[in-house]
Amino acid sequence: MKNIIIAIDGYSACGKSTTAKQVAKELNYRYIDSGAMYRSVTKYFLDHHVSITNPKEVVKALDQIRISFVVNSKGNSETFLNGINVETAIRKMEISENVSQVSALKAVRIAMVEQQRKLGKERKIVMDGRDIGTVVFPNADLKVFLTADMLVRAFRRQRELLEKDDLVDIDDIIDNLKKRDQIDSTRKESPLIKAESAILIDTTHVTVDEQVDEVIRMALTKMIPKVNGNL
Ligand code: C5P
Repeated sequence: MKNIIIAIDGYSACGKSTTAKQVAKELNYRYIDSGAMYRSVTKYFLDHHVSITNPKEVVKALDQIRISFVVNSKGNSETFLNGINVETAIRKMEISENVSQVSALKAVRIAMVEQQRKLGKERKIVMDGRDIGTVVFPNADLKVFLTADMLVRAFRRQRELLEKDDLVDIDDIIDNLKKRDQIDSTRKESPLIKAESAILIDTTHVTVDEQVDEVIRMALTKMIPKVNGNL
């Protein structure tokens, strides 16, 4: 079987991470949450009062940031920032409210894309984000672009936050998702856009299992070499 790269892009809270995680588990592939990397950079910038309008400060701070992923005993990938587990901290609203401004910075993108490409060297990877199929791995074997209705996305995100004991008003979540979509899609550097060859999946009326099955089915057609001849 061919080792492939699967890129899953799309708007915030469309089920990218849930799908990517599950697909990676079933294929025994590595899962990388590229959004967690931008969230970690945002956390560092907030913690260290880095001014995002000061390019020198940004470059200096990026040099101090080490992001890694460790698979826990339950088989789930957790994000570490300079050796500290930040998996829960980076999902907080304060981070969500600042991450799109941070991830729009060219220096931040250059640093993260370099690390993401290194992580993909061995292939056998499922990476989710906004620019994976367009910029990070333009030659990815399978590209998927997820979308869903705003209200469905907001309720899904609210439930996720609630599972972490974080009760956030639905209107605040909708505002945040809309704002991030807008900044992510209109920024100069690597805007969120569907790659031409990406397959669009609308997850509004689809269960997670159905989403995952669909991606696995498409992945298998890329992994299993075509039989030559007229068999
Ligand atoms: O995927 P998640 O919603 O956690 O991503 C958080 C933010 O990180 C996005 O709103 C976007 O601003 C940024 N991001 C990005 N490029 C990626 C992944 C995430 O700009 N590949």
